[in-house]
Amino acid sequence: MANRHNPHLADAALAGASQSPDASLAADDGLVATSGAGLTYPWGEEAPAPGALIDIAPGVRWARIPMPGSLDHINSWILGEDAALTIVDCGLMLEPCSTAWKALFAGPLETARVERILCTHMHPDHIGLAGWLARRFDVPLAMTRGEWLQARLMLTDMRDAPPDEVSAMQKAAGWDADAIDHARAQGWSRLGQVIFRLPYGYQRLVDRQVLQISGQDWRVVVGSGHSPEHACLWNEAAGILISGDQILPRISSNVSLNAGEPEGNPLGEWLASIDKLLSLPDNLLVCPAHGEPFYGFHARLQALKAEHLERLDALADALGDAQRAVDIFPLLFHRPIGDRQRGLATGEALAHLRWLEVAGRIRRETRDDVWWWSRV
Ligand SMILES: [Zn+2]
Repeated sequence: MANRHNPHLADAALAGASQSPDASLAADDGLVATSGAGLTYPWGEEAPAPGALIDIAPGVRWARIPMPGSLDHINSWILGEDAALTIVDCGLMLEPCSTAWKALFAGPLETARVERILCTHMHPDHIGLAGWLARRFDVPLAMTRGEWLQARLMLTDMRDAPPDEVSAMQKAAGWDADAIDHARAQGWSRLGQVIFRLPYGYQRLVDRQVLQISGQDWRVVVGSGHSPEHACLWNEAAGILISGDQILPRISSNVSLNAGEPEGNPLGEWLASIDKLLSLPDNLLVCPAHGEPFYGFHARLQALKAEHLERLDALADALGDAQRAVDIFPLLFHRPIGDRQRGLATGEALAHLRWLEVAGRIRRETRDDVWWWSRV
């Protein structure tokens, strides 16, 4: 217990903060279908129970933090020896998540000394409890600058209703008035309810930087598309990649165009990141934020790339007649899109359309504030 700075202070700040069970806020899970062919899972379906750890390799342990909703959990990777741990990714500020951490600190990590909290990226399921853990152990939070600034920005924008730009993009995508009203009624700043206050400052991670953790080298490998400046961690000697959400085994990472950067090309960034990751060795054990550790790194990257390029080709073919983003849902997604999925589906559909537009294969015409896309 000696190393704990003031857990009671951190716990007091947590009390009453976790009433929202809405894990749909953690939009890591894309809606596009994907196959996991060619992957092997050394631990099979096994996963650590709440409060327990699985040893992956010397200096690498696996914790699973339960979450409500379709994601079910987030994996946290405990790097280093007990004398100086780095905790990677944290879970939402919800009671099941903080309870799992308390069980770890009362159990297998009881005598451990935490040195650093590290978040691969700024999504709520990754940073939700980062501030709580950093405060509990009085240690720095490490992130890339792009993720850190985006997180801080998100948490300072506590307006009640969605910005007009968001509603305008929904209209442009083909939403009807009822759907837009429904989204407005959901409010805007719900994310703040599942994220503990972040520290004022942070420790910056930079692409290619090497972190020393208990004598092992972990190289930061930055990707993009799912989030602005996502950090993976590569231990070349151990043959391990902590992949966050940049590469997931069973689901396709959500890649969405959003109103904060409407001229962006997130799918282009994500596909470029796949090419960048392909320059790493194939024989890595990939430790993702959701799902189980797996081998088949390049097979997974190639499959994700091929699936997306096929889908983009099919989409371009289908745009002989002008269509709106909502019209292409059946082509992109193999499940019905209701109120709960509409925002995510729209972001992903627009990311595909925007990629084709940047590639010069389709064009956009605006009629009555609605975007109609057609093949060039
Ligand atoms: Zn994410």
